[in-house]
Amino acid sequence: MSGRLTIVGLGPGAAGMQTPQATAALAAATDLVGYTTYLDRVPQCSRQVRHASDNRVELDRARHALSLAAAGREVAVVSSGDPGVFAMASAVFEAVEHGDPTWRGLDIVVVPGISAVFATAARLGAPLGHDFCVLSLSDNLKPFDVVLARLTAAASAGFVIALYNAASRARPWQLAAALDVLRPILPAATPVVLAAAISREDERIEVTTLGDADPARADMRTLVLIGSASTRRIERRGATPWLYTPRFHVAAT
Ligand code: SAH
Repeated sequence: MSGRLTIVGLGPGAAGMQTPQATAALAAATDLVGYTTYLDRVPQCSRQVRHASDNRVELDRARHALSLAAAGREVAVVSSGDPGVFAMASAVFEAVEHGDPTWRGLDIVVVPGISAVFATAARLGAPLGHDFCVLSLSDNLKPFDVVLARLTAAASAGFVIALYNAASRARPWQLAAALDVLRPILPAATPVVLAAAISREDERIEVTTLGDADPARADMRTLVLIGSASTRRIERRGATPWLYTPRFHVAAT
């Protein structure tokens, strides 16, 4: 088959955080497929066809992209951040596994991007300096009791935790429930960060503690970072404190 499907990560928002490989893949495409908000971040090019769609129909979008590639087009599917992190790459491979067997012959390439957790960590210092894990708080694709069980296990095991999809208008209560599960496990002084729209014009970072964190401050563009018991906070006059997690294991006292 002559068509190609490239699954491209656009990074967290700032143009400088998109890799040159991603920029080249977008420029080479004849067709762009993705959620409208993400496609709007790709510069217009008159010879390209744009297939914008609503965010909720990822599998349909993946199948559409695969059929375009099977018809010989050079298709780029776009995701924010990294396309493999709670984004389009898994939807594409799910469609390949269960779809038209000829799709397995397509040239499919995944172009990585800077995921929200890395862009956020870089703003704060080095909070991911030791073991960490990443969870989606969304219960669209998994039951919420699985989310809470994983959070409990991660916090008990001493991981720094990054929460994607922390809140949205359709899911307003999950973050409060998640913090309630963590409060008996971790010290009240554990650093908590609400990082919204990182690397964009309206970026907002709040560094607080597990004891004080207000879940109502998170929205669908917020990544929540929860330190481990060993995450350190370095105060700075008139600036957001630095956070870092030491490279070595600190035994619980
Ligand atoms: N593939 C993306 C994640 C998609 S899930 C990535 O790798 O970053 C969408 C969630 O990502 C949002 O609800 C939010 O939690 C997080 N997110 C995406 N961009 C962000 C940004 N610029 N700042 C903070 N969080 C962001």
